[in-house]
Amino acid sequence: MDTFLNSFRQQRAELYRTRQIHDSPQTPTLLINGQPYLTFCSNDYLGLASHPRLKTAWQQGAEKYAVGSGASHLVTGHTLAHHSLEKALADYTNREQALLFSTGYMANLGVVTALVGRHDAIFLDKLNHASLVDAALLSRAKIYRYPHNDIQTLAHLLKKSSAAHKLIITDGVFSMDGDLANLPEMVKLAKTYQAWIMVDDAHGLGVLGDTGRGILEEYCLGTDEVPVLMGTLGKAFGVFGAFVAGSELLIDTLIQSARTYIYTTALPPALAETVRASLAIADEEAWRRKRLHELIAYFRAAAEKQQIPLMESFTPIQPIILGDSKKALAVSQALYERGIIITAIRPPTVPQGTARLRVTFSALHNEDHIDQLIDSLVGTLQK
Ligand SMILES: *Cc1c(COP(=O)(O)O)cnc(C)c1O
Repeated sequence: MDTFLNSFRQQRAELYRTRQIHDSPQTPTLLINGQPYLTFCSNDYLGLASHPRLKTAWQQGAEKYAVGSGASHLVTGHTLAHHSLEKALADYTNREQALLFSTGYMANLGVVTALVGRHDAIFLDKLNHASLVDAALLSRAKIYRYPHNDIQTLAHLLKKSSAAHKLIITDGVFSMDGDLANLPEMVKLAKTYQAWIMVDDAHGLGVLGDTGRGILEEYCLGTDEVPVLMGTLGKAFGVFGAFVAGSELLIDTLIQSARTYIYTTALPPALAETVRASLAIADEEAWRRKRLHELIAYFRAAAEKQQIPLMESFTPIQPIILGDSKKALAVSQALYERGIIITAIRPPTVPQGTARLRVTFSALHNEDHIDQLIDSLVGTLQK
């Protein structure tokens, strides 16, 4: 077995992955070995993860219910805390009903395997999140993958397929590129070819749209156009967990048959209470979303002035493509030496030849942070 395990270590050094230990609250400045580092890689876009009201909600939830839920939802794990959060998520997304899952990964596995099977077809963007690819594989449906946002190829594949059910699955905001799925065009195709659409809006919820309802608000689309919406609770909402929202019929189907919902322990009730508080704060403190977009605009303007190559993204995900994995690692390391942490994202997370620094912003960053980032990027990219 050791020979097999060692083969992972012997991968080329530039692809080897390690973990960084930090010992501080989740904010843009992290302490590592007692040293402060400015970070641009968290998904805590609204800066809610260390909000004092969320810490209080967590404590009160633990006092009232318990730390653990004790069982799965269909046994005795489903508390009023979970139920109230599901109601709040349905209201938030303006859908009939919502269902909690432990993680986004599990939500995707559960939904896709509940909705399609051997005689069906799934259509995936090449850049979809790994959990959607795994979900599709597990479903045993026929899988078609189209080049990123290539609507023509998608149309061609849909036309060709004679599957009983066709499910188009896409990220709302692509997690490594920061751009959006072309949902308006996909909706037209779905109508023409009688396909269903599922959107994973892990990076859009809380961030996009006039009121932060995500990519569907950005494009003014509802349940009729996109019947299945998946969202995560550990990114903009700063906590943990995930949900699926849609019609009552969809949610009931998932309660009956989504295996990652049925065969797992319900989330801690204290966590459900915390997420409910987080949804409320995201609305009450709408300045966080506005601030985030100001910072993104500030960064893009400053980067363009310095001719730092950016991608077409107006989301908090602002990748800087470096191409070669070695170069991405070297730049990431040089930034680290200057007290800035941005992880180098390398294959297989992104396609070969597109290794990058994935820069992300939080409402808790400020202009000084961004100036420091730009200065350091100019200093390291030119070497
Ligand atoms: C983060 C992410 C997930 C997984 O969500 P977790 O709750 O972290 O498991 C799924 N899809 C996309 C697009 C993501 O970015």
